[in-house]
Amino acid sequence: MKLKFLGGVQEVGKSATLVETDIKTLLEYGLKIRQTEESSRFPEPFGNFLDVLAVGHCHIDHSGFLPGVFDICSPTVLGTRPTKDLIELLLEDSMKLMEEIPYRLTSYKQLMKNFVTLDYEKPYFSGKTSIKLLDAGHITGSAMIDIRHEKKRLLYTSDFNTTDTMLHNGTSAPKTNDYSALILESTYSERDHPNRKQTEQEFYNKIKEVYEDNGHILVPAFAVDRAQEIINVIRKFDKHIPIYLDGMCNDATDIMFKHKNFLRDPKQFRKFMDSIERVYGFRQRKSVLNEPCVVVTTAGMLTGGPAMYYIPNLNKNSVILFTGYCVEGTNGWTLQNKGTMMIDKKEVKIETPYQYFDFSAHAGKKELIQFAKDLNPEKIFCVHGEKCNEFADELTKEHGFKAVAPKLNEEFKV
Ligand SMILES: [Zn+2]
Ligand SMILES: [Zn+2]
Repeated sequence: MKLKFLGGVQEVGKSATLVETDIKTLLEYGLKIRQTEESSRFPEPFGNFLDVLAVGHCHIDHSGFLPGVFDICSPTVLGTRPTKDLIELLLEDSMKLMEEIPYRLTSYKQLMKNFVTLDYEKPYFSGKTSIKLLDAGHITGSAMIDIRHEKKRLLYTSDFNTTDTMLHNGTSAPKTNDYSALILESTYSERDHPNRKQTEQEFYNKIKEVYEDNGHILVPAFAVDRAQEIINVIRKFDKHIPIYLDGMCNDATDIMFKHKNFLRDPKQFRKFMDSIERVYGFRQRKSVLNEPCVVVTTAGMLTGGPAMYYIPNLNKNSVILFTGYCVEGTNGWTLQNKGTMMIDKKEVKIETPYQYFDFSAHAGKKELIQFAKDLNPEKIFCVHGEKCNEFADELTKEHGFKAVAPKLNEEFKV
């Protein structure tokens, strides 16, 4: 089995790994959200032919450039049913936001046409290679990708979470100890997350305090999973506080209803999500802030969406509660670091206080190490993180693994 790392190495963004057995499989083909001096937005070329294109989940850093593959060839696409629908939602949204679409529209259509949806744990066979998707616990439909060819076995984690959330059970390492290689996402290789239950309680306490003080609580959230997770957390504590859901979160919620079997407690999800107000369009949006309430809306990093309307219109007792990471340079980042954001191309000072709560859907440092120990593979490749080199060193020196942080275009035989 041969591996070639085409993106997502020593950084988060544009995940892409080529796996060669008797067939050619590309694991994901993402985009980088923001181009930096060191790194382009696009993954490296994979050649001119693929048998299979497998995708772990819908996030743009994993799926954003999948259509680009179809400018070149036309492989079978493997992912779960929710991932297919969510990719459609997120790619169509990302096409609207791009000044220039970096692939042909017919390629996007071909991608959706070539999609073969797989249930978790059910193998797909091509030649002498078998490919399985395993529940990754990260977001709805998210999967780790397991590839087996003769005696060689690879696990690619994509993004994963081992901690239970309101919507998903945390995942764990497969029980068999016969893995030749593990490609391990390393987003939080440097730090542990705070206790989840405690974070939920503190988050709700803050909401209650501001609500009783007649303020608005604005929660910028990623449309898929985070927005719904936050609502489920609030409803666990409080059945009555008014909650509004606006923006692409509504479309994502409908897709989650459709694939309710991918949720931990579909009945409770339905009950909680039916107890809130959904906001569609500007006319309805204008009346939302008439009274104290919680507004959950896109964009999670304040890069656009209805949040741009709400923020300048919050009353003086209000608060903005971030529930996810904001990439440097985004409005969410400038607000937290300089107290300003760009609204209608003007830099505006924001007086509303903000607070950050760690509702991450990734394994923290402790969990990453435990996962590696449980799987006990012959070799570990650390990807999808800012500190992959340091983490690979630590896994090698302190935990006895053979771990490396691959460089761009580097090839390995396992
Ligand atoms: Zn993700
Ligand atoms: Zn990711």
